[in-house]
Amino acid sequence: MRAIVIGAGIGGLAAALSLRRGGHEVVLVEQTPRFTEFGAGIQLAPNATRVLRRLGRLEAVAEQAAPRGELSFRSWSNGAEICGYTLGREVDDVFGAPYLQLHRADLQQALAAAVPGGSVLLDTEVVGIDQDDKSAAVTTASGERLTGDLVVAADGIRSAARQWLFGADEAVFSKTAAYRALLPTAAVADLDLPDTGIWLGPGRHFVHYWLRRGELLNVVAVFGTETAQESWTALAEPGEPLRAFEGWDARVVRVLERAGRMYRWGIYTRAPLARWNLGRVALLGDSAHAMVPFQAQGAAQAIVDADVLGDCLTGADADDVPEALERYVRRRLATATSMQARSASAGEEFHLPDGPEAEARNARMAAHATEHRFLPVAAAWVADGS
Ligand SMILES: Cc1cc2nc3c(=O)[nH]c(=O)nc-3n(C[C@H](O)[C@H](O)[C@H](O)COP(=O)(O)OP(=O)(O)OC[C@H]3O[C@@H](n4cnc5c(N)ncnc54)[C@H](O)[C@@H]3O)c2cc1C
Repeated sequence: MRAIVIGAGIGGLAAALSLRRGGHEVVLVEQTPRFTEFGAGIQLAPNATRVLRRLGRLEAVAEQAAPRGELSFRSWSNGAEICGYTLGREVDDVFGAPYLQLHRADLQQALAAAVPGGSVLLDTEVVGIDQDDKSAAVTTASGERLTGDLVVAADGIRSAARQWLFGADEAVFSKTAAYRALLPTAAVADLDLPDTGIWLGPGRHFVHYWLRRGELLNVVAVFGTETAQESWTALAEPGEPLRAFEGWDARVVRVLERAGRMYRWGIYTRAPLARWNLGRVALLGDSAHAMVPFQAQGAAQAIVDADVLGDCLTGADADDVPEALERYVRRRLATATSMQARSASAGEEFHLPDGPEAEARNARMAAHATEHRFLPVAAAWVADGS
């Protein structure tokens, strides 16, 4: 069969590879003129890396990842450890696939390298979708019509396809922003940072981990803000993150001082949908289930969508497409929807004020880490591959 995939983000690229693996022809349509993955770090739990292995891309991705080490949750004021996990090679033994941390651009490149150039249309915006009993098609901004047996809309959180299929719900601002920076490792070598640190405090949290074989430190500071654009290139006000983390453990403050001007990404979500498919068209990734990034599972869920979609369409023919897309959504919707809720509630838990509730959270986290030494809560929940 022939599938038209809208969007060459992580979800669209993974879908293209998964569908090609099932023997289908794919046309991948991307509005930007080139593959430009902005942003910085991305963490991939075993539910996603297992799929990358099936797609033949795990080795290429792992080559670019940071050396694997410990994850430490810390308290904001004095850096006391709340709990710790091993994200190292033991994860492979227990879950059959690694936990990786890498630059988004490296992930995108590793996926894009496996999609034949001839099947990608860059600089091509999709402006409409239509379908009948036998086929589905997209119309591009230049008026071209591309027809296939199905259309997969991996067009991200601002998905136009979602609107065309299900009407106009809007992306919802979470009233938080992620302030991001990349620092050379040498700039923080004296700070004795844990390999991966997640520092929790009232109304804020601070995350750092290594990228690019350990050459860069990825830093993300999250706190509340009334407005923020959703953009990989918008800059924060000078000193804004540093002011927000005044009084935190000296290592957090030092990292922010050395980070200089940071980027600011306004965090938006989409409300859960009751379905992601209509006839021969289905949503995938953020277009279906954009979530706050506090469980590091948005892209991972998109990658698993791609895997399940490919599986449901393997061996199918054109007449089976609507039923195969039903099966895809049935297999994915509950987990992805639950992950949206889990990510939102992780944000609330991370940001509890000091006091009995935060102490109870810390005790829960410590108990979980003692029991499941290898992966934090959400990653362990989906480690079976869902
Ligand atoms: C700060 C932050 C940290 C994160 N950290 C993690 C993490 O550690 N782990 C994790 O798993 N997830 C993480 N995420 C979530 C992850 O980034 C997203 O869930 C993931 O990138 C979504 O991929 P996607 O392919 O669905 O959408 P996108 O990456 O948004 O791709 C959509 C693509 O569609 C194209 N497009 C849109 N409209 C059209 C059109 N009309 N025609 C043609 N092309 C179109 C766009 O140009 C784009 O290339 C994080 C998110 C943020 C904001």
